[in-house]
Amino acid sequence: MKTEKCLVDLQLEVIYNDKCIMCGSCGAFCQNIYYDGGKLNYKEQCSETVGVCYNFCPRAELNIPELELKIFGKKREDQALGVYDKAIKATLKNAAMKDVTTAVLVAALESGLIDSAVLGNAKVEKALEPVLCKSKDEIVGNAGERKGLGPLVQGVGHAIKAKQERIAIVGRPCHAQGLAKIRKNPDFLVNQDKIALVVAHACLAQGKGCTVCIDYSGEFADLSVDVKTGEALVRSEAGQKAIDAAVKKGYIEVGHGNVEAMQKAAATKRVKNFAKVLAKGGDVVSADYVKVDMGGMRFLSKE
Ligand code: SF4
Ligand code: SF4
Repeated sequence: MKTEKCLVDLQLEVIYNDKCIMCGSCGAFCQNIYYDGGKLNYKEQCSETVGVCYNFCPRAELNIPELELKIFGKKREDQALGVYDKAIKATLKNAAMKDVTTAVLVAALESGLIDSAVLGNAKVEKALEPVLCKSKDEIVGNAGERKGLGPLVQGVGHAIKAKQERIAIVGRPCHAQGLAKIRKNPDFLVNQDKIALVVAHACLAQGKGCTVCIDYSGEFADLSVDVKTGEALVRSEAGQKAIDAAVKKGYIEVGHGNVEAMQKAAATKRVKNFAKVLAKGGDVVSADYVKVDMGGMRFLSKE
């Protein structure tokens, strides 16, 4: 469903309200928006009434149950970690691949599951600048985690424009949230079917806007990975195929996952930061026949 809002609403509700996390979803398919020096900028104030910027922004609205149904066809049973089919522990078997995520991407590339990957540029310190990698060497060269925030989703928009057909992205949970709003969205057709694989790394970042983030594991990715431990959640067929390809190539080995540590970290972050979301909200919430304002909700939710 299209929301009749655009750039000015995004500014008021998200950007000037300290909720923007520079994910790049708003500018991925809009020529007017660009990101520069850690800031979101635009060429001109826009007169559109229904904007992809607002409709793709994960901080403008994140209807979690609706997105889960859209992306995975079901709602979560695990409140801490979201929808997933399988918890695994992946161990790197080929040191040249640097880490589990890189091994999965290289195997996916070599198996034809993807033709490119948007990663954080290894040459840029303390920020996530998207770089389009089309070869094994480029993927391995940009392996690892970067600090800071950055518009990786815009890199996906550029990859689509550059006619890539099967695009992977490795980002944070917030990037996967933006991509969830973009993927399978019949209201805004932007060739999003070219997005083949979304990998999210578990995240406890503390950037501006992160204080109201309630996603630790990357609940809307195909594959969520804790790169430090190798614990991973396979959430979709695309995620499973990429893991299978890496196992087949002998790049990784897979065993049973132990989700307890991830559940604990996720639950702590969700509960702590949702209290901050409640503190920001001025809306009325509905539960069955009752509507209460946020003050009432805060009072009633204290068990
Ligand atoms: S889409 Fe991302 S970058 Fe754009 S306003 Fe929303 S949070 Fe910020
Ligand atoms: S904590 Fe991580 S996932 Fe959440 S908004 Fe910040 S960078 Fe994004």
